[in-house]
Formats: sequence, C-alpha cells, structure tokens
Amino acid sequence: MDTATRTRIDVANEVLQLFAAGTSIEKPKGGVFVTWERWRPPGKVTKRWQCRGSGFYPVWHRQWGHGGTACRALSQLVRWIQEKPVLPLSTWRFWTGKSVRLGRENGPRILELLAAGGYPESVNCVLCDQQITGSYDWWDLKGVSGPCCNHYSGCRQKSAAEPSR
Ligand SMILES: [Zn+2]
Repeated sequence: MDTATRTRIDVANEVLQLFAAGTSIEKPKGGVFVTWERWRPPGKVTKRWQCRGSGFYPVWHRQWGHGGTACRALSQLVRWIQEKPVLPLSTWRFWTGKSVRLGRENGPRILELLAAGGYPESVNCVLCDQQITGSYDWWDLKGVSGPCCNHYSGCRQKSAAEPSR
C-alpha cells in the first residue's frame, strides 16, 4: 500500500505485530477496541480501550499479558489513532533500544514504520505548547493528558525551583 494512503490505524497495526503479534486495534464509532489471541482457552478476545489513572495501562492489561513497556507502547498507538498528544519517537527509540528491547530484533523496523507513518519526532508540552527538547513528564489532570515539561526545564521549572524552606 502507498505510504500516503495508509491510515494511522494501518501503521499502528503493523507496528503492533512487531512487538505484540496477534494483537490488533480497531476504531469503530464509540471507541477503540483491541483484539488479541488468547492461549487458554484458545480464542480471540476483544476489549474496549479503557484506562484507569495515567492512561498507560488498560484495565485488562494483565489479561493481555505483554508486559508493562508493551502496554505503554500500545497506549501511545491508541492515543495516536485518537489524535491525542503522544510521547515522541525518542521514547520509542528508548523502548526499542538496548536496555528495554521492545520488539527485540524488530526494533529498527518499528521506528522506521512509525517515522514513515508520520508519528511525531518531537512533541509539544500539553501545558505551555512549547516543544519539549529534554526529558518530559506525563500530565493527566482534569481532562488534559499528554507529555509535558519536566520539573527541571520549561514551564514547570519555576515552581519546582522555589525553595521549600
Ligand atoms: Zn511546558
């Protein structure tokens, strides 16, 4: 398929096969659904994407069983197809890098597919809308969620720098 006509869901599903084979995302009206192949008893499971807390872990993440990093990666793919703020490609570089090894030997291909599919290389802080250049935190409060400046740089620096004495 021509890169230009590929949708985010196409890209997300292709990337998913590289770190959680057999899992797929669909986005019909009314939400995002994730389907995967269950081992025992054998069969397909489909669940609506639904999170508690930070939004990185769906309520059924233990059933999905691919581990914490894969869950965080899946959460970013889901957010990306929902056109919500996501963590930048550098996070995926870390996840697929030597210390975490998401997707193992598929790491480079994952990065390639995301970059070619238009996944953002850099992202803006959801609070001040400035590009985040260093490390970041994750903001999730009152309906606003996404990457934000961390306590040592950008818009949140001032409050953190105030002496506590
Ligand atoms: Zn900021």
